[in-house]
Amino acid sequence: MKLLIFDIDGTLTHLDGATRRAFDAAYVRIFGVHAMTETLRLHGRTDPLIFRDCYELSGLSGGWEKAFVIFRDAYLTALPGCIAASQHTHLHPGVAGLLNMLHRRPDAALALGTGNMEAGARLKIGHFGLNRYFPVGGFGDHHHQRADIMRDAIRHAEAHWRQTFPPADTWVIGDTVHDIEGGKAVGLRTLGVATGGAFFYEDLVKAGADVVFRDLSDTAAVMKALGLN
Ligand SMILES: [Mg+2]
Repeated sequence: MKLLIFDIDGTLTHLDGATRRAFDAAYVRIFGVHAMTETLRLHGRTDPLIFRDCYELSGLSGGWEKAFVIFRDAYLTALPGCIAASQHTHLHPGVAGLLNMLHRRPDAALALGTGNMEAGARLKIGHFGLNRYFPVGGFGDHHHQRADIMRDAIRHAEAHWRQTFPPADTWVIGDTVHDIEGGKAVGLRTLGVATGGAFFYEDLVKAGADVVFRDLSDTAAVMKALGLN
């Protein structure tokens, strides 16, 4: 059985800037100043680390970890409305068909591997009805490093499916160099997909992904690359 760990933003979903809008709205509400996320790269980073950078940039004093706990609730409250109000949210090409096919295979296990907090991740993919595909995952709540998130995803998957997933049978599927590097750091196979807009196809090749696709629309080719033909 193969374990397939999917990133969310840019890999499965396009949320048309809803994440940034929710983040900014919550930040102003709690701290009364702008988060200045426009100066930051959000792609491939964890929610707490994005918050820490904003906290420092906007000149707030005191420990950011404590402030993050307060911010977290406001962000998660703002997120559903920001997603619902977005005009152009969609799943990336091929995602719906691929997940549907993988879900029906007895030799494939699906997990999430994302810098989102779990509650935010569930809201995001819940917008598209995808939660049923992903019983477990690794999330950005507690870890800052992508490799630790992958380790969490594997640990939870092994508990859920009651079997071990050797690195050679475990794939990370993501749209950023961070996904590829995080997967490689734990010795996993990596599939890059250049749908996120933050990195080009060539960047993902250069990062050392085992295989790179421009999008996931060729289901048969993706299944073959994953060794599931
Ligand atoms: Mg991503």
